[in-house]
Amino acid sequence: MDRFAQFLHRQLDIDLELLRRARQDAETGTHHTCLITPIRGFRECELKTRLLTTHQHCGTGEGPCDELGESYPPEDERGCPTRALIGLPYTDRPGYAPRWRP
Ligand SMILES: [Zn+2]
Repeated sequence: MDRFAQFLHRQLDIDLELLRRARQDAETGTHHTCLITPIRGFRECELKTRLLTTHQHCGTGEGPCDELGESYPPEDERGCPTRALIGLPYTDRPGYAPRWRP
């Protein structure tokens, strides 16, 4: 589970860096194509980070999805369906393992 969590946190860090560059480009008048506005992108990163925090213990027996009986077994790095879904936007990033697909 730790490797998957590390992967997700790394992707969020990458997103945040890309958004910071896009915001800087906007502020300095430099034009690059960005499909989402930086404000929305930062909000989405905050959403994913909050979800990861809420579900960080799922699959260990101490997460909210464990209580609901919806977590994955300990050997499944994803932890729970929510964590698996958070990884879905990053399936094309280096390091994403096919077995992590929801
Ligand atoms: Zn969960």
